[in-house]
Amino acid sequence: MLESEHQRRAYLDALGIDVWVPRESEPDAAAALRPAKPSDDGDWGALRAAVADCTRCRLHEGRTQTVFGVGNTAADWMIIGEAPGAEEDRRGEPFVGRAGQLLDEMLRAVGKSRDEVFIANVLKCRPPNNRDPQADESAACREYLERQIELVNPSIILAVGRIAAQQLLETDTPVGRLRGQLHSLGSVPLIVTYHPAYLLRSPTQKRKAWEDLRLARRIAAGDAP
Ligand code: URA
Repeated sequence: MLESEHQRRAYLDALGIDVWVPRESEPDAAAALRPAKPSDDGDWGALRAAVADCTRCRLHEGRTQTVFGVGNTAADWMIIGEAPGAEEDRRGEPFVGRAGQLLDEMLRAVGKSRDEVFIANVLKCRPPNNRDPQADESAACREYLERQIELVNPSIILAVGRIAAQQLLETDTPVGRLRGQLHSLGSVPLIVTYHPAYLLRSPTQKRKAWEDLRLARRIAAGDAP
């Protein structure tokens, strides 16, 4: 459902973005014109089961549960983060802590709800003490994420944070240089932005994240960057 300008401004306010930001074409209009994607319940069920039982790396030993991903399995937008934290490990859902609340605000600012997009992580299990994923852990999990991307077949991937961006793009370029430009993963356009946990620590960077979201919205709507 389209949100009123009043609501949108409230979300932008929560993001710390000035409300003079000009309106752009509604993203949902373009989405509504695209044909519905076929559902693939069998494929999703098999993938969910494989992830739930996974013992491919050491992280299975410490998890409460796997964190598969959540949202619309035929979403236009796919959001990819790093790995579950303590709260996500407990609840089995990605981005449910404070960073998750900010991610929700960021999505609402571009007219998207959490249910409309698909949210996943590079890793499906929580690394101990929230340390960075190790290369062999990411490699072991990569097939699951690739299959999720294949099944969702999004119009845009938003990689949030250094780990997601660098692992998806197979680079060690800093996130500050990866953001603000169009990348791709196979045939899917990909935009990099800052991780919401970083934005909580560095709120002055929120304006750049807002620019990234607007770029992602233009690309998802089929406009040139
Ligand atoms: N940070 C992430 O990258 N993913 C989550 O699910 C939670 C926090």
